[in-house]
Amino acid sequence: MTRHAAADAPAATTSAPVPGDTPAGVLESFDPATGDLVGSVPVTPASQIPTIVARARAASADWASRSTGERAAMLEAGGEALLARAEEIGTLLCREMGKPLREAIGEVRGCGSSMAETCREIAEALEPVVRGDAHTASEIHFDPLGVCAAITPWNFPVAMPHWLVVPALMAGNTVVLKPSELTPLVAQAYADCLIPHLPEGVLQVVHGADEQGRALVAADIDLIAFTGSREVGKKILEAAGRGLTRVILELGGKDPLVVLDDADIDAAARFATRNSFRNAGQVCVSTERIYVDERVAEAFEQRLVELAGQLTVGPGLEEGVDVGPMISAEQRDHVLRQVEHALVQGAVLRHGEPEARGNFVRPIVLTGLTHMMDIMREETFGPVACVMRVHDAEEAVRLANDSPFGLGAVVFGADEDRAASVARRLRAGMIGVNRSCGGAGGTPWVGAGESGYNFHGGPEGHRQFAQVRVLSRPRRSGT
Ligand code: NAD
Repeated sequence: MTRHAAADAPAATTSAPVPGDTPAGVLESFDPATGDLVGSVPVTPASQIPTIVARARAASADWASRSTGERAAMLEAGGEALLARAEEIGTLLCREMGKPLREAIGEVRGCGSSMAETCREIAEALEPVVRGDAHTASEIHFDPLGVCAAITPWNFPVAMPHWLVVPALMAGNTVVLKPSELTPLVAQAYADCLIPHLPEGVLQVVHGADEQGRALVAADIDLIAFTGSREVGKKILEAAGRGLTRVILELGGKDPLVVLDDADIDAAARFATRNSFRNAGQVCVSTERIYVDERVAEAFEQRLVELAGQLTVGPGLEEGVDVGPMISAEQRDHVLRQVEHALVQGAVLRHGEPEARGNFVRPIVLTGLTHMMDIMREETFGPVACVMRVHDAEEAVRLANDSPFGLGAVVFGADEDRAASVARRLRAGMIGVNRSCGGAGGTPWVGAGESGYNFHGGPEGHRQFAQVRVLSRPRRSGT
């Protein structure tokens, strides 16, 4: 990982260097489709992280003193820069992470084009709230916390930093971002769009893997905003507990899809195909378990296999590709191990094969699963649709809730009220009825159970990046 960079590799421009120190090495980034070197960034020595955090702290008083309007204006200029470079950064994203080019460009464009609206929504959420009773007039303020560490994964390497960095900055915190070691170039390109529009030290980037993550968590930080796996989330929570540092953890999932006996089978199978195989299944709210009523199971399974067979697998840069490579050999092997294990235990392979070409895994459809199998219990994060037949909605609810995870869930059924009442009994934080689990604009992104700890998005989520303070005075007559 820290071998020396090829001379022609694009170099990072504004990651946080500390004067007088020589970087310990470089972090090389490889195209998961070809294995080619895409570029490199300097690794931030863990010993430099306290100095970088101190710089963020030095910048925080001035940043905190600015109005949300001023902060928004600077971030909006950053959003415009991102939008102007959407094709270039999207292409880099596609090369570094593997997803189809149109999805990669869409991810960058989505972040850039929504910046103004997002900042407006956050500013509104941070407006003081007034409360009073017979004796007291109180104001609830949402003040900056100080320095925020944002630690992010590789599967949406622009959107994941964006979702944490923007609310943290808008709340008046300075930010040190540590993106995934698998996608450092695109995260740096994102930060390079914002940094020139912000005062010095307000947003900095450190590069590296778990060593740098641990050093950042142990530094003089006021809020750790983390998106990643449940395992790392638990380690962060434990480390943060020592100093009672605030945390927001958005973690992994094992999302169920429930297909009721009256569901539109074609629509349910189309949803399952899209949501199991999008981004090669490397989405926190991928459909990882499907519980289908036995009365409609055969028709659903047949349609799912048919649709899976229509997907084109290949390098994300190629026209018409639906499913790109897995991010790494480790992730590919993890997925194939789960599939092989399930097959040994009696699962039926209805589509695809338990093998890969390079990092490419063809969509796999398995049936005949049980909850004894790892693939129904642990996060897979790969292009696999796992179908289990159930007697009725009751059994579907019981099995769907038989998981420590609780990020998203989806129910398909023609009688929407009945489907919604099944949905209300699922333990997930976000549940979709006849659609994906993500809510309307202004709703939070929230996990239940071991899929999250605090959350972001929506007014309540934006306020978690702030220190709540209550100012009270005696209520005078007539006020
Ligand atoms: P990961 O947990 O392995 O790594 C995430 C980040 O944490 C990386 O930057 C990594 O370098 C850093 N890290 C690793 N060990 C650390 C430590 N001890 N202390 C501090 N930082 C450390 O996750 P990943 O493989 O990059 O991403 C995939 C995971 O992310 C999946 O579980 C997926 O479900 C989850 N995810 C969740 C959401 C959500 O919104 N809930 C969104 C996207 C991804």
